[in-house]
Amino acid sequence: MEKREKLYEGKAKIVYAANEPGFIIQYFKDDATAFNALKRGTIVGKGVVNNRMSAVLFTMLAKKGVPTHFVETLSDREMLCRRLDIIKIETIARNVVAGSLAKRTGLPEGTAIRQPVLELYYKSDPLGDPMINEEHVRMLKLATPREVAWIKRMALKINGLLRPYLRRKGLLLVDFKLEFGRHAGRLWLGDEISPDTCRLWDADTNEKLDKDRFRRDLGGVEEAYQEVYRRVVGPA
Ligand code: 5GP
Repeated sequence: MEKREKLYEGKAKIVYAANEPGFIIQYFKDDATAFNALKRGTIVGKGVVNNRMSAVLFTMLAKKGVPTHFVETLSDREMLCRRLDIIKIETIARNVVAGSLAKRTGLPEGTAIRQPVLELYYKSDPLGDPMINEEHVRMLKLATPREVAWIKRMALKINGLLRPYLRRKGLLLVDFKLEFGRHAGRLWLGDEISPDTCRLWDADTNEKLDKDRFRRDLGGVEEAYQEVYRRVVGPA
């Protein structure tokens, strides 16, 4: 499969059309942004980590019955995917209080959540991805009620699969973001699953091993990504 025209360049990825209709190639960059692109930087090797880790996790999820856009890995930074009509909703699943949930509720970061919490956000750069509810989804015609029900069910299923899988690799899955889209008359999981889109803490020490090291200037950013790679993908 070969790359054709560039369809879209985002903050962390470039999406190219593939030479077969209905497929795209995701190219993973080392560029990092945070706070709606107010903070910019480079995390050396991040593209390789996110591409390879997403491939491992999409493959695991597909074996367990989750439809994902992933088809195959093409290179260190490229994966072949089904072309989705992306639904403009970011679905967040949370197992432990952190980030915006700590800010919104006043609960300390690290507070365990008994039953996973799901949140929906409107995927809109100009608006800064505001949190929305299902009424807003209906009003904005982002997805049908049936699609939202499927997305919520699937997000909980994915959490139920990822959490123990990553725990066996010594990682606590604190929270993560998912994106879904339509293709061939059904819904699929899209985007990526990586330290850019998940909060991952060392299961023993609670050390942050994800993009929060970049967002919060904690240092050791590249090292954290490489550590996650080593645990999830294997020795480099
Ligand atoms: P929070 O709402 O606490 O900022 O983020 C919750 C989780 O969703 C974190 O794991 C974070 O990485 C992920 N997340 C939320 N919004 C975005 C986004 O726009 N881009 C990326 N890469 N991750 C996001």
